[in-house]
Amino acid sequence: SAQPQHIRELIDRRAHLLGPGYQLFYTNPVEVSRGSGVHLYDSAGNEYLDAYNNVVSLGHCHPAVVDAVTRQLSTLTTNTRYLQADLLDFSERLLATFPAELDRVTYTCTGSEANDLALRVARAHTGNTGIIVTRNAYHGVTAEVAAFSPSLGPASPLGPHVRTISAPDPRRQGDAVTDLLRAEIRAAIDDLRRHGFGVCALVVDSIFSSDGVQPFPTDLLGVLAAEVRAAGGVYLADEVQAGFGRTGAGWWGFGRHAVVPDLVTLGKPMGNGIPVAATVLRHEIGREFGRNVRYFNTFGGSNVPIAAASAVLDTITREGLIENAREIGAQLLRGFAEIVSGYQCLAEVRGAGLFLGVEVIAPEDTGPDRVLAQSLVDDLREHFVLVSASGPDGNVIKIRPPLVFGTEDAALLLDRFADAATRVLPA
Ligand code: PMP
Repeated sequence: SAQPQHIRELIDRRAHLLGPGYQLFYTNPVEVSRGSGVHLYDSAGNEYLDAYNNVVSLGHCHPAVVDAVTRQLSTLTTNTRYLQADLLDFSERLLATFPAELDRVTYTCTGSEANDLALRVARAHTGNTGIIVTRNAYHGVTAEVAAFSPSLGPASPLGPHVRTISAPDPRRQGDAVTDLLRAEIRAAIDDLRRHGFGVCALVVDSIFSSDGVQPFPTDLLGVLAAEVRAAGGVYLADEVQAGFGRTGAGWWGFGRHAVVPDLVTLGKPMGNGIPVAATVLRHEIGREFGRNVRYFNTFGGSNVPIAAASAVLDTITREGLIENAREIGAQLLRGFAEIVSGYQCLAEVRGAGLFLGVEVIAPEDTGPDRVLAQSLVDDLREHFVLVSASGPDGNVIKIRPPLVFGTEDAALLLDRFADAATRVLPA
């Protein structure tokens, strides 16, 4: 479609100003100038239904966060080397959302830093370096974390100490998913040892987002955690995407799997837009690291991010957003199931709470169809609904709206998706 001149200019200026590696969403990129609740607005005043942005899980510009941040910014901004009751009060409330064993928290600014720290802690604890992740996992940007983020692709090679296992995929793997992955993790552990690496950690995104959104089966993470622990390693639950109530089943994605991790990393929605992230751990796991290493993160745990995180925690509880994620998620799942049943190219919808994936396959051969998925995403964008596509084959429409999504927002999303399917998919 013809792009207005000022959009072409913005794209051109980006190319000349920003460093390497930046990407834009959509064939026809969206310019955003304002956000409010479940909506984004462009400079022409168009309103977009945001069914994708999980950082602003309370909705764009939620007043509770805006007020808390504004107040804190005009009261005190400093670091964790001073005594401050607010930091401890928040830490108590945050840790109260976890199983009792997870009883310590260290603050960082990004999910990448939280994973980077968790790995250093795990290494000190286990004395080992071997890491196991799923085949298309993403865990972050530091050199160390990128070395176990296979979704970055072949140009960003995995470390020699990293092994991958399949993500769950019941549609293709059938009923025996957990048995299959148990066998794979055992093989990965054996292979690490054969190459002289002890087992340090299993690192898993509790909803397998970049592996294509895989909420089932829920007996899986307990089994994998047991295997890695038996081999002398620890289990790190990456809750950067699944956490803070998104799955509609309690605060943390690992809770759906009835397993207690050794370390947990948090980020994205934790500050509703303010950079704040954390590593939560069992205190005994951190003992060795704490004996020998000093960890200071200038902005991690500083006042403004903690004020934002505190407002987020309060608001999730006060507005009942976990229950809302469960209820609206169920509405979306039912609605998408109906749409999916009408198209041979839509293989399935799966989800937990407000985290859903719709898998798009090719008309003839039933293999993944990245192009068709992108056409759906682009068509929805032209009709002012924002979603994206993910998964190893880029063919899973990822639907991840703010947790404040209402019944009417869900109904509108389903209507627009049904219309897009009519336009884009073969009947
Ligand atoms: N883990 C997961 C599962 C993520 O999705 C991301 C970000 N996409 C990260 C870690 C890294 O977080 P950040 O971008 O805040 O460093």
